[in-house]
Amino acid sequence: MHEPGALPRDLTEENESLRASMAYMMEQAERNHDIMCRHQAFDLEIVGADSFPSLVSTIFRSLPVISELDIVTLSLIDEGEDIRLVMNKLGVDFADFPHLVFVESTRALGFVPSSSEQFTGPPKPMLGPYIPSSHQAMFPHPPAGLQSIALVPLLRNKRLIGSLNLGSLDPSRFTPAMGTDFVEHMASIIAICLENVISNEMLKYIGLTDSLTGVYNRRYIDRRLREEIARARRQAYRISVMYIDIDHFKRVNDSVGHQGGDEVLREVAARIKAELRLSDALGRFGGEEFVVLLIDAELDNANMVAERIRASIAGTPFALSSGGMLPVTVSIGVAVLDDFDRDHAIEGVAQELLAHSDAALYQAKEGGRNRVVSFEVTLAEIGDSAIPQA
Ligand code: GH3
Ligand code: MG
Ligand code: MG
Repeated sequence: MHEPGALPRDLTEENESLRASMAYMMEQAERNHDIMCRHQAFDLEIVGADSFPSLVSTIFRSLPVISELDIVTLSLIDEGEDIRLVMNKLGVDFADFPHLVFVESTRALGFVPSSSEQFTGPPKPMLGPYIPSSHQAMFPHPPAGLQSIALVPLLRNKRLIGSLNLGSLDPSRFTPAMGTDFVEHMASIIAICLENVISNEMLKYIGLTDSLTGVYNRRYIDRRLREEIARARRQAYRISVMYIDIDHFKRVNDSVGHQGGDEVLREVAARIKAELRLSDALGRFGGEEFVVLLIDAELDNANMVAERIRASIAGTPFALSSGGMLPVTVSIGVAVLDDFDRDHAIEGVAQELLAHSDAALYQAKEGGRNRVVSFEVTLAEIGDSAIPQA
């Protein structure tokens, strides 16, 4: 018999063990809720990322924290290096993303079985121990003591675009027997976001570049010039504008055809570019005219660069794919802006600078072509007639 009001001993034990497991379940539920909230916040953050660098930096910064991982890397398929080229053009510095890996083909990701096996359906995540000989490519900078990993395919409409690679120092964190719904869901959101920002960046790039030569287009140079004038005012440095026009280009087209002419345009762009600094901007303004913005360049400096460009183009005849060799020359007009008067509207200053370099170019043509003419523009002179110096 037991005391009145008290439970039998085995019931007390059962009750206690039930309470303990309830408390454990509550704790788990709270923890899961917490994880879910963090992941929802993460999803919102990556969905809101408006550029490739902001998306990948969010992934590398937030995912290890919210998922309690020791490393997160991304492998992206970039056949023909299109993504890298565009991102480079848009100013992305891949040195900022040591955990971002580009691969040439789906095969390099390691999901696709070897040719002897039958490949059915989209690849599934691979969970298990970290084996350096097989996984080093996905983890170029693994933390010391990396034990278990999950390679999760990034799929868009069943097409593999890369893999999300998760790693932990805990050997039991990822094992082959584990369910993969959660990581697959996470990877599907990341894949959508990646595809979105990549296609947005591609569009941005297409809108700002000249498809024939790969240099910037007029729209970009116009915008950049206004930005640079504003910055030059704040930081008190000089900007030079160079207007470059191929001499007798009509004759080039007449002698080597339109296709040969296009080749000349591409080679001229490449030779100009080879003489510039990374901070300078080269654009094709249409036809056979190019404009260069030289940032933080004095007149002497700009003249020197212009002379180098002129000499590099005139110095070596152009080898065409048809087999012919063609001498090509350019004329260059240079204008430098300094002595800032903050009352002038930026738009007007930009137009005047371009107009002055164009006027200098005209002088170069008049003077016999294959030459550089420059003049210094001070805003006091804008509106009056500035005097060209040969
Ligand atoms: P100048 O020395 O005075 O500059 O003589 P030019 O013959 O270069 O002068 P003009 O500006 O009259 O001729 C430009 C030519 O450029 C006319 C046009 O057929 C050609 N052109 C314009 N755009 C392209 C293009 O995209 N590809 C090719 N191949 N030719 C182009
Ligand atoms: Mg011309
Ligand atoms: Mg022209």
